[in-house]
Amino acid sequence: MNIPKSSFPRVVIIGGGFAGVALAKKLSKKELQVVLLDKHNYHNFQPLLYQVSTGGLEPDSIAYPIRKILKDFPNFYFRLADVSEIDTEKCKVISNIGSLKFDYLVVASGSKTNFFGNKSIEDNSMEMKTIPQSLNLRSLILENFEDALLTSNLHERNALMNFVIVGAGPTGVELAGALAEIKKGILPKDYPDLDTRTVQINLVQSGDRILKEMSEKASKKAEDFLEDLGVHVWKNVRVTGYDGNVVTTNSDLTFEAETVIWAAGVKGAAINGIDGEELLSKSNRIQVNEFNQVKGFNNIFAIGDVAQMTTDQTPYGHPMMAQPAIQQGKHLGENLLRLIENKPLKPFKYKDKGSMATVGRNKAVVDLPKFKFQGVFAWFVWMFVHLFFLIGFRNRLVVFINWVYNYVRFDREARLIIRPYKNKFKP
Ligand SMILES: Cc1cc2nc3c(=O)[nH]c(=O)nc-3n(C[C@H](O)[C@H](O)[C@H](O)COP(=O)(O)OP(=O)(O)OC[C@H]3O[C@@H](n4cnc5c(N)ncnc54)[C@H](O)[C@@H]3O)c2cc1C
Repeated sequence: MNIPKSSFPRVVIIGGGFAGVALAKKLSKKELQVVLLDKHNYHNFQPLLYQVSTGGLEPDSIAYPIRKILKDFPNFYFRLADVSEIDTEKCKVISNIGSLKFDYLVVASGSKTNFFGNKSIEDNSMEMKTIPQSLNLRSLILENFEDALLTSNLHERNALMNFVIVGAGPTGVELAGALAEIKKGILPKDYPDLDTRTVQINLVQSGDRILKEMSEKASKKAEDFLEDLGVHVWKNVRVTGYDGNVVTTNSDLTFEAETVIWAAGVKGAAINGIDGEELLSKSNRIQVNEFNQVKGFNNIFAIGDVAQMTTDQTPYGHPMMAQPAIQQGKHLGENLLRLIENKPLKPFKYKDKGSMATVGRNKAVVDLPKFKFQGVFAWFVWMFVHLFFLIGFRNRLVVFINWVYNYVRFDREARLIIRPYKNKFKP
């Protein structure tokens, strides 16, 4: 990997997401050699991916070069590498660009979509975890309207204009809201010769309420917002399969749809070498102790989505969200320095700062530890918080200008088919 030898201990971090970057920032001015490996050369702000999928933002405005984030740190090295295995005995990581020894290893590889073993859904539905996947979805949505315009078969046309989003967590809710706004504000202008009133947006949830991690009030209000926008919210319905044409459920309900977006689950993106029932939870997250140490190892840690810290308060680990990832990254930074200086480690304590979701223009729900509010003010808070956490002044400025422009013009100008999408399982 062409990393110079150093007299400082080497910390290797796998993953430049929220957790990995927070950790690298903490360590990089210390007497350590820090090597960050990621299969992408950018940090991706996942909470705004749905806006890329729906043409509200260009992908570049929610991504930031990892090298640039850490450019001022003298002992920091970034390598574009896909890590395939960890050799815990020899203390080295193995990747597509070679292997590298470590003194300390931190796995911060995040999560991936969980299809719960359902192959038909995995092969035929769309995911939205990465920028390329969001661009695929953007292309597919737009291509379907182009095809709908050409077909005289009513059945086919309806399926092309029927969207099914599975999973009503923040991702599903935000995507459904954005599609509903496109139906109302953009499609009639772009496709005046297509009856876009027949576009259907279905949000399917296996449980009895949407946004189940938030308060009951937030769930109820978000559902009202979605219904105002014309989204069909199906609760207590479990999707059981999708062959590329028809979505089946555990009831008589079926949907004929060309676009199905799977937002119903994630699992840890654990890496070979750290596996087995002892080390992995049911959701493929690496079991760690209260110091984020992987069970049985002094010098191997996991943080963020991929880590499961099971305690009495968190029997299923911390929520797979940005805040726990950032807080664990910062905390581990301090603990690693303590470890190197032979000082006792401090246990991680999560500070819940609340959660929020937006449904569309002037419509959002916010649950803070002490206050819960919904509507226009919540929407402004949602925008401010997302702008604040975006990395890079340029990105903040571009996103802000885009949002103001979209708000004033009722528009989403990034509705471009740059890279046509083709499902490899469809003829
Ligand atoms: C669509 C969507 C919307 C979301 N909305 C919100 C929200 O509104 N609020 C919120 O708090 N959270 C939200 N989340 C969750 C939040 O983004 C994650 O919890 C957070 O990104 C976790 O941070 P992380 O550092 O653990 O992982 P990530 O940010 O996912 O970073 C993991 C990194 O590891 C790299 N990597 C993975 N495997 C390898 C490998 N083998 N080799 C090399 N590199 C590897 C990846 O390329 C990636 O850069 C959302 C997630 C998604 C997908």
